[in-house]
Formats: sequence, C-alpha cells, structure tokens
Amino acid sequence: MTRLDLGNQARDARIVVDDLTAEQTKLDSDVEQVRTRRDRDRGRMDQGLVSNPKDLERMQHEMESLERRITSLEDEELEVMARLEDAQRGLDDLTVQLGQLEERNGRVEQDRDKRYAEIDAELTDLAARRGPVVAQVPADLLALYDRLRAAKNGVGAAALRARQCSGCMLTLDNAELAVIRAAADDEVIRCEECQRILVRTEDSGL
Ligand SMILES: [Zn+2]
Repeated sequence: MTRLDLGNQARDARIVVDDLTAEQTKLDSDVEQVRTRRDRDRGRMDQGLVSNPKDLERMQHEMESLERRITSLEDEELEVMARLEDAQRGLDDLTVQLGQLEERNGRVEQDRDKRYAEIDAELTDLAARRGPVVAQVPADLLALYDRLRAAKNGVGAAALRARQCSGCMLTLDNAELAVIRAAADDEVIRCEECQRILVRTEDSGL
C-alpha cells in the first residue's frame, strides 16, 4: 500500500473513531439525564409527595417507561462501545503501519542522500583529475573527442583491447590491425564501426 493510501485509510479510521466517541458521549449523557429524572420521580413518590391514586398510577407507568428507556440506551451504548473498540484497534494498527512506512522511507532517503554525496564527491574528484589531462590534449583532438562524446552516449574514446573496440565491441580484422600497427604513436586512430577514437594499450593485441 502506498503512503497516500495508508494515510487516507488512517484519516478515515480516525473520523470513524471520533464519530463513535461523540456518539458514546451523547448516549452516556442521555442515560444520565433519564436516570436523574427517574430518581427525582422516585424521590417524590418515596417522600409521599404524590397522594392522588390516579397521579400515583400515572407516575408508576412513567417510571416503568423510564426504566425501559434507560435499558435501551445502555444497550445502545454497549453496542457503540464495542464498535468503537474495533475502530480504535483498526486505527492503532494503521498508525503502526504508517510509522513503519515513515521509518522505511526515512532510511531509503538517507541512503539516497548518502549516495548523492558520494556521486558528487566522485564528480568533483573526476573534474579535478580531468583538468590537467585536458590541458595536455591538442585543441583539435579535444574538439573531436567532445563531439564524439556528445554523439556516442558519453563515450568519445574507447580502448582497443584484444583486437576489440571496447566502445562497440567489434573485433577488428587483420587488415585494420596492420594499418593501426603501422601508424605513428601520435596518430589518431578511429574505430571504423562506431567512429570512436581508439586508444592503443599494452593488451590491444597489435
Ligand atoms: Zn567501435
């Protein structure tokens, strides 16, 4: 599940928990209100304040009706409490999941930032090493190299290794190798296949 999905679910669960909590509080105060009324009526009867038999009978009925109302409100409250308990458990679970996800994201971001810093350091190092080398390369050769590098996925020159161009992996035939072998050390050799500058090395196979 994505961070967004999880966040949305947690928000919805929080709304349900809040609604049920409000519902329970309301039922609680309703029960209290009816109890207060019942206790007041009972008090009046107990104190003998109601003497008229007709009034007494009417109050007796009302007491029964209040008792029924209390029972029904209490049942309702119990049911709401059970639902609240479930909803709270669900919310707790989502909160834990969200926390774990945040923690994992934090770790991934840390790793990424560390890697960025390493790459930046590598780039700085490479730029520092490139400067003196570039200063020694003739301007026309450097221009050719830069043009090839831009056109060939960042690789303008390739080592010739074991008769193979390491830029395009083509193996040179004997005729080409003979030409390269005969060329002066400072002559610029190009791969016939990929056009890259071929750099002769000890293991070129010449
Ligand atoms: Zn090549």
